[in-house]
Amino acid sequence: MSKSKNFLETIVQDDLQSGKYKDIITRFPPEPNGFPHIGHAKSIFINFGIAKKYGGKCNLRMDDTNPTKEDTKYVEALKDAVQWLGYKWDGDVRFTSDYFDKLYEWAIELIKMGKAYVDSLDEQTMKEYRGTVTQAGRRSKYAQRSVEENLELFEKMKNGEFKEGEHILRAKIDMSSPNMKLRDPLLYRIRHAHHFRAKDKWCIYPMYDFAHCLSDYIEGVTHSICTLEFENNRDIYDWVLDTLQLTPPRPYQHEFARLNINYTVMSKRKLLELVDGGYVNGWDDPRMPTIAGYRRRGYTPESILNFCDQIGIAKANSTVDVSQLEFCIRDDLNTKVPRVMCVVKPLKVTIENYDGTESIDASYYPHDVPKEGSRKLPFSKHIYIDAADFSQNPPKGYFRLTPTQSVRLKYAYIISFKEAIKDENGEIVELIVTYHKDSKSGQDKSGIKVKSAIQWVEASSAKQVELRLYDRLFKSDAPNGIEDLNENSLQIIKDALIEPAVITQKPDVRFQFEREGYFYAEPIDYTDEKPVFNKIVSLKDSWAKKKETQNNRRKPAEKKVQIDGAVEPMNEQEQKLFDRYTKELKLNSEVSNILARDKNLSSFFQEALDIFNSAVNIANLVVNDVAKQFKQNDIQDVKFTPKHIANLVKLIDQETISTKIAKEVFEIIIATGDDPLKIVEDKGLKQISDPDVILSIIDEVIAKNQDNVQKYKNGNKKLFGFFVGQVLKATNGKANPKVVNELVAKQLDS
Ligand code: ATP
Ligand code: MG
Repeated sequence: MSKSKNFLETIVQDDLQSGKYKDIITRFPPEPNGFPHIGHAKSIFINFGIAKKYGGKCNLRMDDTNPTKEDTKYVEALKDAVQWLGYKWDGDVRFTSDYFDKLYEWAIELIKMGKAYVDSLDEQTMKEYRGTVTQAGRRSKYAQRSVEENLELFEKMKNGEFKEGEHILRAKIDMSSPNMKLRDPLLYRIRHAHHFRAKDKWCIYPMYDFAHCLSDYIEGVTHSICTLEFENNRDIYDWVLDTLQLTPPRPYQHEFARLNINYTVMSKRKLLELVDGGYVNGWDDPRMPTIAGYRRRGYTPESILNFCDQIGIAKANSTVDVSQLEFCIRDDLNTKVPRVMCVVKPLKVTIENYDGTESIDASYYPHDVPKEGSRKLPFSKHIYIDAADFSQNPPKGYFRLTPTQSVRLKYAYIISFKEAIKDENGEIVELIVTYHKDSKSGQDKSGIKVKSAIQWVEASSAKQVELRLYDRLFKSDAPNGIEDLNENSLQIIKDALIEPAVITQKPDVRFQFEREGYFYAEPIDYTDEKPVFNKIVSLKDSWAKKKETQNNRRKPAEKKVQIDGAVEPMNEQEQKLFDRYTKELKLNSEVSNILARDKNLSSFFQEALDIFNSAVNIANLVVNDVAKQFKQNDIQDVKFTPKHIANLVKLIDQETISTKIAKEVFEIIIATGDDPLKIVEDKGLKQISDPDVILSIIDEVIAKNQDNVQKYKNGNKKLFGFFVGQVLKATNGKANPKVVNELVAKQLDS
């Protein structure tokens, strides 16, 4: 945990200093009705973290008061999650159900004190009697029942003599309290259900408001930390403990803001829907925001704890950008994991003038020279490179292999193109190249200039592996539910090739596949015969990644769909368009496929292209955003024309706006039909690059986050990303990220 204190720690420290408590006891109290998610990680981090920091203890308590939703498998998942994050709970796992006898006794005591009564109103009436925020409630006539009658009825409730809903036990507090929660809250309800631990012993179950405070008390908890939605329940918490006049010390409740992350849902109920509906492959599906999901995907506990630390603890709810979590795992793995080569879309290469074999020593940590560790790379006449690393008609700025441009095979030799062998469809199936004998990496005397080094694997020793590439589970940043699922959140590549060093390793290992991202040996499906790797995270932020896709990088799985012939073959006309798109305009095959098959889209695209020549960006907008509009409306009815799109892309290409803002602008175009430039000017959406403006925002962010500045100055350089993120957020994403990065660095290090 960090050096500076958050507000909860301040409370704890004050309580220790004042002698209110001798020892600190916290607890993590989940309901075992689902797998824990990243929000729970935050709660775990706080509760166990505080106990650790102040030499106290933290209990793990299953809050199992709802028999119909709970299950042992969730108990196990919760235990796993806490342990995996590196924490140890005090003693055995505790269960609220273990306290049911004691809780029942306290309920009777409240009845005897005249502080609780059995109510028999039907649900509807009870709701009406509660009143509203502006109107006092009204007490049930049953509140006048005598203590004896209440005791008798409560006993009968316990003995199963009534149906569910027939009676309930309520606290007698205040039906006109401005805090609606205090209007005679429910304490016990009838549930004729089998409990996974208490079995069939009980048919009444205590409500959260009654069980939680008393369970805390039983365990000697000092600080009962929960999320903000319980703020109004705090009065009941206090009322129950005070009314029962329990021997001190008693616990107190403190609230903090729950964690929300964009592009996902975060409640066990909603996650259960995904699991039950088969939208994901179980609770530990690597796309799930569950701890089990992150774990299976390859996240480290350190990265998650570091994330929890970075986001801080506050009293106001907010949504954290998922890229901040991605930043943390990248940051953790960057220096830790070995770098190896993987060829995602293999293209056979024969080095005509090379004979024999050799073994090349290559560092696992080429970026970090003092760090030891290397492997042998076999090398021979036959290798594979990535199909994307060769281009017969290279676009401008293409640095890899072309008919006229040599390239270095990473750690090995420089090669030059000689011939491309094609199949009957004109697809390149093999390259014939020559190598330069005196160009070996580290001892290059060839004098040949190359612009880049590409990955490769030696043919006879390479191993085929399956790669599972994950994207965000939802396409909307604040998803409502199933309808917002991203149908491309999982891509499977079956025939990537890796160098032998990767497969001789045991499972439970992570690698950086150079240029491709960080990968984790799939903990369940990995076998020696069929190694499977999960992509943990890309090397760069997804924005950067998106740009790269636009700039003509392959989209492997989608291309496969086509080759497999799962869809209708194209007619001659469509095929001609498709070929022109892929070869001439360098659009990726998926985009080309969509355009070529849709007359409206392809003519719209062509018109836009005639106005402004930026094929890749226009095509992307047309295929995604325009197509969606055409689906939902008649073409005659839409308010935009190809000119709008052309002008919009112009703004992107001139860096007047980012692609993200472009989406926003497009939404407005749809509604108004206004020209993009006008929208950008009217709404002030222009990218902000003016250093003076950005500097003033940075200064504000710095002033507001002195805590983190201090941490940064004390050596936690990881916080750099935090500051950049805050500045971008403050400008609604309009600040030019490049300028922000430079200036943040300048300000922080000054
Ligand atoms: P869910 O709605 O996902 O089921 P919950 O609040 O019902 O969540 P519990 O199992 O009751 O889940 O929660 C256990 C502890 O974790 C509670 O103290 C709760 O406040 C905390 N918690 C739950 N969700 C979050 C979150 N998103 N951020 C921080 N803490 C959380
Ligand atoms: Mg819940």
